[in-house]
Amino acid sequence: MTGPASTPPGPGGEQGRGVFDKELLDRCISCGFCLPACPTYDLTGQETSSPRGRITLMRALESGDLAPDDPTLAEESSFCLGCRACETVCPAGVEYGRLLEQWRDHQWQGAGRPLIARGLTALVSRPGVLGLQGLVRRHARGGAAPEEEPEHGPEREHGPEQEQERKQPVSLMLGCVERGLYPAVSRAARELRPELAVPAGQGCCGALHAHNGDSATGAALARALGERLSGTVVTTAGGCAAHLAHHLGRDRVRELSEYLDHAGHRPAGEVRAGDRRARVTLQDSCHLRNGLGVVRQPRELVAAVADYVELPGAGVCCGAAGTYAMLRPDDSRAVLDPKLDALAELDVDYVVTVNPGCLRQLRQGLRRRRSRVKAVHLAELLAMAARPGKPAEPAEGDGTGDPAEGWAAGR
Ligand code: SF4
Ligand code: SF4
Repeated sequence: MTGPASTPPGPGGEQGRGVFDKELLDRCISCGFCLPACPTYDLTGQETSSPRGRITLMRALESGDLAPDDPTLAEESSFCLGCRACETVCPAGVEYGRLLEQWRDHQWQGAGRPLIARGLTALVSRPGVLGLQGLVRRHARGGAAPEEEPEHGPEREHGPEQEQERKQPVSLMLGCVERGLYPAVSRAARELRPELAVPAGQGCCGALHAHNGDSATGAALARALGERLSGTVVTTAGGCAAHLAHHLGRDRVRELSEYLDHAGHRPAGEVRAGDRRARVTLQDSCHLRNGLGVVRQPRELVAAVADYVELPGAGVCCGAAGTYAMLRPDDSRAVLDPKLDALAELDVDYVVTVNPGCLRQLRQGLRRRRSRVKAVHLAELLAMAARPGKPAEPAEGDGTGDPAEGWAAGR
C-alpha cells in the first residue's frame, strides 16, 4: 500500500504535511464507538491509546499542530497492535489499518524505524534466506502424501461453483515464518488437499514490510508473488491473506479455511483426547477476521472433527501482532494474559490458530504457564483427525533459545 500521492489540505482546509490521505483521515467523526474494542485502550484507559485518540494524533501530525518528533507520536504508532478491531465497529467506515500504514511509513523512516523491524524486513528480503524455501518446499512435497490413506478420504461436493473452482490452478503460498518454523503446517495443508501446487521461487508476501513502515516494498513484494503464483493463492496465514487480498484482489486469495469451505471439503475422522472426543477452541487471526471477515469457516471445520468450544474474546488480538511481540514484549504479554486465563477456564485440549504468529505466541504463553493445552494450526488439527492412531508431528520452532523466538510475519 502506498502513501498519498500529493500533499493534500489538512483537516482544517490548510495544506497538510501529506502524510495521510485526507479522505481517509477525514472519515472519523470522533464518536468513540471504537474505544471498547481496542485492546490497548483496555490496558491503559487513556484516550491517546485508543483508535480515536490515535486519529487525533494523526490529524495533529498532518496539520503541523504536533512536531514530527513529538514522543507521543512515536510511542502511540508503536503501541498500537494494528489489529484492526476498531474497523469492525466503526460506523463511519474508517480504514484504520491503512491510516496506520501511512503513519508508520512516515514515523518509522530512517532512524525512526525500530532496529528489530529493520532487521527482520531485511532478513526476509534476502534471497539467501528465502532460498531455504526450496529445501522446505521439497520437504513439504516429500511429506505431502499421507503414509496411509485415511479410512474416509475427504469428500467433495460437486456443485457448479466447486467445479469451476476445481478447474482453476491453485497455489499454496509458503509464508516466510511458516516455511522456516512450521513446515508441518504446509505439509498438513497438502495432505488435506493434494491439488495444492507449491511453485518454486516464492518470495515474501510483503505483509511484514507493510506493517513496519515500508508499505511501498510491501506492495511490490505482494505483486511479485502474485506473478510467481498461478491461479488462486491459498495461504495458511491470516495476516498474509489480508495483505495479499488487498494487492492482488479479494477473489484471487483464499486463506486455507476459506478455501476448504469453498471447495466443499468435509473433514475426515476426529481428534481424540484419550477415550473421548477432544475439546477444541479457536483463536482468530485479527487480519483474517477484521480485514477479510472470515469467522465461520475455521469454526465449522474444527467442529467437524472435535467438540468445538468458543473462546471468550476469540476475536481479540493475542498480542503476537507481527513484530509486536519482539518490539514490545511486556505489552504483548499483557494483551495475551487474559486469553491464557480464558483458555485455562475453558479446560480444552487444543487451541487452534490460523496464523503462524498467533501459533507461536500461544505456544510460548502456554509453555510459560505449563498448561496442558496444546496450540496447533488448523491444518495440523484436520490432518491429525484424518490419520487416527498416529501422533501429531512434533511442533517445530518452539524450543527455548530459538534465534527466531518471537518473530512473526502477518497477524
Ligand atoms: S474511528 Fe470510527 S468508531 Fe472510532 S471515533 Fe472515529 S468514526 Fe468513531
Ligand atoms: S488497530 Fe487495534 S490496537 Fe490499534 S487502535 Fe485499532 S483496535 Fe486499537
